[in-house]
Amino acid sequence: MNEQFDICVIGAGMAGATIAAYLAPKGIKIALIDRGFSEKNRIVGELLQPGAVETLSEMGLGHLLNGFDGQDIHGYALLQDQEQFSIPYNKDHRTHFHGVGLHNGRFLQQLRASALKNPSVTKLEGIATGLIENQNGVIQGVKFKDKATGEINEIKAKLTITSDGFFSHFRKKLSKNEKRVTSFFIGLVLKNCPLPYPNHGHVFLSGPTPFLCYPISSTEVRLLIDFPGDKAPKRPAIKEHLKNNVEPYIPDCMKAHFAEAVGEENFKVMPNHYMAARPVLKEGAVLLGDALNMRHPLTGGGITAIFSDVKILGSHLLSMSDFSDTELIHKKVRMYYKDRRHANANVNILANALYGVMSNDLLKNAVFQYIKQGGNYAFEPISILAGLNKDQKILIKHFVAVALFGAKSLIKESVSNFPKAMGMIWDALKIIKPLAKNELTIAAVFGPHHNLK
Ligand SMILES: Cc1cc2nc3c(=O)[nH]c(=O)nc-3n(C[C@H](O)[C@H](O)[C@H](O)COP(=O)(O)OP(=O)(O)OC[C@H]3O[C@@H](n4cnc5c(N)ncnc54)[C@H](O)[C@@H]3O)c2cc1C
Repeated sequence: MNEQFDICVIGAGMAGATIAAYLAPKGIKIALIDRGFSEKNRIVGELLQPGAVETLSEMGLGHLLNGFDGQDIHGYALLQDQEQFSIPYNKDHRTHFHGVGLHNGRFLQQLRASALKNPSVTKLEGIATGLIENQNGVIQGVKFKDKATGEINEIKAKLTITSDGFFSHFRKKLSKNEKRVTSFFIGLVLKNCPLPYPNHGHVFLSGPTPFLCYPISSTEVRLLIDFPGDKAPKRPAIKEHLKNNVEPYIPDCMKAHFAEAVGEENFKVMPNHYMAARPVLKEGAVLLGDALNMRHPLTGGGITAIFSDVKILGSHLLSMSDFSDTELIHKKVRMYYKDRRHANANVNILANALYGVMSNDLLKNAVFQYIKQGGNYAFEPISILAGLNKDQKILIKHFVAVALFGAKSLIKESVSNFPKAMGMIWDALKIIKPLAKNELTIAAVFGPHHNLK
């Protein structure tokens, strides 16, 4: 292959396919590489928060959510013991934000087709085996093994976007990221199952570990069950976990559908990671998607972060008249890494902070009772979860307020709870401190930011 591309994208997943679909209509020459272009059946990325839906529309790609039985999501429901309530994404009739529950594989095929229909995109099916680097350390493209012929070719491009997902081979060269497994999600599909709150995401807090569900088509509900620890559970451990820690807390209207799904034993298990972004600047290459940054999927924030990154990187690249100036490309990559920190800090902090809170009985109860108060106690936190509110001061304000609210409630119950209350505040600090250190910068918090749309 002697062709010179503007961009070579490694991995046509959520990130790679979306940036190709965003940039290709502007005539940018793109090589889009993936090991396989057939439809995948995965349990990841099935709930798009309103922030993701909004950003997709802003990139002119909102129509790609239509035509495959995706379901509008209007808000979230929280269920704990005998109490339950829902919070809408919209405070009043003036906004119409909504999320979408969907089959990730079907949506990805739409994104890919939208990219590949452009004559400026070349589809390459096979494996990217290594980056091509010149003697000055500049990345000039990628070595590629063609799936059909087995031939190894060199794909040359001015910019190589590495979006090869959470098992990325290339992040080692382009970052100092440290990846950590925080827990696993066990995925089940419940067929024709009524939900306590139709067209809502549900978070169940009664059991020892949280679980979630939301519709992914008009006839299917995805159930994702957390399994703590860093070792993937085997089938017997899964069955025991479902029987002891999940089944007793499933609402009556879902019980028969849950039993049927468990009986089918069609469990899918995926690791949940936390990985703060620590990119290393390298001319000619940039990281995007899970290859760069990951958070716990409890809040469904992954694709919100990815679409935001795609829009930031894409807009910087589109502001150039062409891809001839390598120094300018490098400058644009640097600006993307800087801008994305602020844009994604809330999504990243909330996901892992909430997972920490859910694993602590006192804090879990405090957050439930705090949000139950309604008004801004519920609306501001859900606007952050929705990916619509990027103001980190609001997130920190509510995190601190939850800990104080929980402590006050404990002491109100009995003064002898004072040490317990202090312990809870200490636990909250232990959860937020490393996240704030990883994700916040002074400029990001106090600089200009995009508030609630
Ligand atoms: C259990 C779970 C549930 C989740 N649920 C949600 C959710 O509800 N909402 C949400 O917003 N986020 C969710 N996420 C996160 C979200 O799914 C991910 O952030 C997103 O899918 C990552 O997209 P990506 O493009 O970076 O990677 P991927 O979508 O994994 O794409 C990577 C692509 O690269 C290709 N590839 C890899 N290596 C090579 C190679 N060497 N050569 C060629 N091709 C290669 C792969 O084939 C793949 O197509 C969830 C995550 C998990 C783990």
